[in-house]
Amino acid sequence: MHDLTAFCCQNTQCADFGKRGHGNLTVCAHYGQQQRRLLYCRSCKARFSERKGTPLFDTRLPEHQAVAVLHHIAEGCGVRQTARLTGVSKDTVVRYSLRAGEHAQQLHDDLVAFSPRDP
Ligand SMILES: [Zn+2]
Repeated sequence: MHDLTAFCCQNTQCADFGKRGHGNLTVCAHYGQQQRRLLYCRSCKARFSERKGTPLFDTRLPEHQAVAVLHHIAEGCGVRQTARLTGVSKDTVVRYSLRAGEHAQQLHDDLVAFSPRDP
C-alpha cells in the first residue's frame, strides 16, 4: 500500500485540486528506469507523475546530481561555483534554481496562507 497523504490532484479543473490526503488518488502504474509512480485521480480521472508540481519534475539529470545542485544553491554557493562542484553547466544551475524558487514561493503561499494581524 502506498502512502499518498502528501500528494494531491494536479489538475486545476478538478474539484479535489490541491487537497492532500483526500483519498482520491491511487497508483495506477510505474514508469521509467527509476520506477516512478503514476498517480490516478478518481475524481477527475487525470493521471500524472508523482513528481508533477515539484522542482524535480521532468528533470534530465540523475536524481543525486539534481539534488546536489539544489543543496549547493541552498548553502549559498554561486552559480559558477555550483556548476564546477556538481559538474553541470551554469545554465542548468540557473534553470534548477528558478524552478526551486518558484516551487518554494508556491509552497510558502500554501503553508502561510494568512499573515497574523498587526495590532
Ligand atoms: Zn483530480
